[in-house]
Amino acid sequence: MIESYASLTPVLLLDRAAQSFAERTAVVDGDVVLTYREFAARCERLSGALIEAGIRPGDRVGALCSNSHVMLEVHFGALLAGAVLVPMNTRLAGAELAYVLKHSGARLLVTTSEFAAAGAALADSLELGMLAEGEAYEHALTQAEPRRVETTDERALMSINYTSGTTGRSKGVMYHHRGAFLQSVAMAYHTALQPGTKYLWTLPMFHCHGWSFPFAVTGAGGTHVCLRSIDLARIWEEIRGGATHFSAAPTVLTMIADHAAAGAGAPHPVAVTTGGAPPTPTLLERMAALNLHVTHAYGLTETFGPVMVNQWQPEWDERSAGERASMTARQGIANLIARPPRVVDAEGRDVADDGIEVGELLIRGNDVMLGYYRDEESTRAASHEGWFRTGDLAVMHPDGYVEIRDRLKDVIISGGENIASVEVERALDSHPAVSESAVVGRADDHWGQVPVAFVNLRPGAEVTVGELQDHVRTQLARYKVPKVIHFGELPKTTTGKVQKNVLRTSGGKDAR
Ligand code: ADP
Repeated sequence: MIESYASLTPVLLLDRAAQSFAERTAVVDGDVVLTYREFAARCERLSGALIEAGIRPGDRVGALCSNSHVMLEVHFGALLAGAVLVPMNTRLAGAELAYVLKHSGARLLVTTSEFAAAGAALADSLELGMLAEGEAYEHALTQAEPRRVETTDERALMSINYTSGTTGRSKGVMYHHRGAFLQSVAMAYHTALQPGTKYLWTLPMFHCHGWSFPFAVTGAGGTHVCLRSIDLARIWEEIRGGATHFSAAPTVLTMIADHAAAGAGAPHPVAVTTGGAPPTPTLLERMAALNLHVTHAYGLTETFGPVMVNQWQPEWDERSAGERASMTARQGIANLIARPPRVVDAEGRDVADDGIEVGELLIRGNDVMLGYYRDEESTRAASHEGWFRTGDLAVMHPDGYVEIRDRLKDVIISGGENIASVEVERALDSHPAVSESAVVGRADDHWGQVPVAFVNLRPGAEVTVGELQDHVRTQLARYKVPKVIHFGELPKTTTGKVQKNVLRTSGGKDAR
């Protein structure tokens, strides 16, 4: 019989690269440079080493790693061993890391050198096996036979990605092989990856598997350029040195655009993917002026990262600059492998596609999680007749494009009127002195809530509270103008998102 079916798994992408791009550079990580022949062999040996260390199909393997060749190797190595990968947020505190390891039931921990000491302490107290970058890791790889356990069920659990917990206790999002494979295809398609691509790792690989780019760049035969930490001057050096692609949350893009090394921008067009929070039209325009061309995507950990993308249509080139900017700020449509989303009202009915009526965004299809690990209650709470409830409020435009208005919990209700924090932030960010802003609600005896803004100014820029309020008033109704404005750096999560929960509790203390 002719075999016309193979389980979809990211391992197929490694196999493609190993056969077709064997001599191309797979990874550059400081002094470590590997071809795809070498990289694929190391992944198979790591799989062998994991199996020798007692890892059996379905066992969980934690990874506490910076963006590095080790993290890329464990992405494929764990899958080749049939294990379930648990990427860990390297900026969590010891107790939080211990929670992730315990909750996932990890049996072994792989670390890069930066986290070897922290990892050893965890491995000790939780009695886990450990493989730390350096001699131990290299020795294990040299000793081990290359091994692979075939994935026969593409719907099997592939990894558990813990959410950053901005919305409460961290939950373990269960990924499947099929979803990760398809999501990689979508990323390769939407960002046009190919042999010759130099993908700069500004996005943490531990966050939603770096939006599946470890797999996608590999399948496309591109080169992974590892950045072990965010170093803005180095990012500009890498861009000038030939990086063709990178991804980052809007706040990181703001830092890149604001940096002294930005100068006249990139010498060649760079494909940038952003998401995780809404980029403002102002930021998108500034990026384009620096030859950094942004594709705007939307997603959550639960949807393997970007499940929607602001697909550009050629006719839009003809529109005015202002219109183009507001088109780009929309979150968009289903990505290549996703299913069309819905926006529904409180009764579960689709809202009108008028760009005005607000409802909750629902998603289903190939790149949605299996559920939350060992947490049926949260899984049930997140589903509605087979659809995943995103907790995001959105409108549906007449052309089928979705625009996020706010997170359900971030909406400010003032005098009975809803204020979308995003809309106020956009107005603030359009002032030339503003680098970025965040708006939250503060309890108010009279209005219920009032908007309070936190604003970070561009280097050297000056503006008064009154001037900023006047600026917002030219664009928005009076009740949406922040009553209080604080200046200073915004608190960020480890993935570059503004921590509105932190701002909410600090809001109003040192009011101006
Ligand atoms: P956490 O919920 O822990 O912050 P996620 O990274 O899964 O972790 O965050 C997903 C959320 O980020 C979405 O629910 C949405 O509110 C927000 N988000 C992601 N992309 C965008 C975007 N392009 N525009 C607006 N909001 C976005």
